[in-house]
Amino acid sequence: MTLLSEEQRKKLSESGIRAPYVNETCIGCSACVAISPDVYDLNDDGLSVVKELSNYEDLSVDDSIQACPVNAISWKN
Ligand code: SF4
Repeated sequence: MTLLSEEQRKKLSESGIRAPYVNETCIGCSACVAISPDVYDLNDDGLSVVKELSNYEDLSVDDSIQACPVNAISWKN
């Protein structure tokens, strides 16, 4: 699994491609992983991380944002 690096996030942003961002309030409930397994995974600490993809549209990101119990996920350009 390759995680989305800040450098890659910046490149995507420069191309007008949105990517989800998980902030430090994640409690590792894994709801986002269940909803969008192509987008998220849990790291060794059991917290959600965003995988490196070329596009995040149509991958249930909006649903994962809605489902997160602590509002840890947002679209971030
Ligand atoms: S749904 Fe929210 S709290 Fe649960 S693992 Fe994903 S980011 Fe973390």
